[in-house]
Amino acid sequence: MTSTETAYDESCLFCRIVAGQIPATVVRDNADFLAFRDINPQAPTHVLVIPKAHGYRDVGELAAKNPELAGRLLAEGAEVARQEGLPDFADIPGYRLVFNTDDAAGQTVYHVHLHVLGGDALGHFGSAPH
Ligand code: 5GP
Ligand code: ZN
Repeated sequence: MTSTETAYDESCLFCRIVAGQIPATVVRDNADFLAFRDINPQAPTHVLVIPKAHGYRDVGELAAKNPELAGRLLAEGAEVARQEGLPDFADIPGYRLVFNTDDAAGQTVYHVHLHVLGGDALGHFGSAPH
């Protein structure tokens, strides 16, 4: 554990999922990462991948403070996509990896998390129509 990490923050939703205090549908679990299905999926497959350690509020902080863990988080995202069959999905292969960062992107949980989305054509992204 690095100096910026804590094992557990009781006020953090994702730490509570790691601790098993809030149920989640886990698709992958290893020493440093947990992957579980998003409760409000935005695509047929929508999985969140998180480092188990608390202490990185968003991807920029993670990359700055622990680039090695950031790189392995990306590899975990790609592995979850592979495990979910997305790169070879018969109808429409491929997937999207997303890190929402702060209010403009609608970040709601400040424990860094990678969204893995796929299973359908995902549409374009950017500003909402207004
Ligand atoms: P953000 O908007 O911060 O990038 O992503 C947070 C994600 O967490 C949202 O997509 C939201 O649907 C998901 N989420 C919020 N609460 C829960 C929960 O209790 N369980 C699970 N599995 N996902 C959650
Ligand atoms: Zn946390």
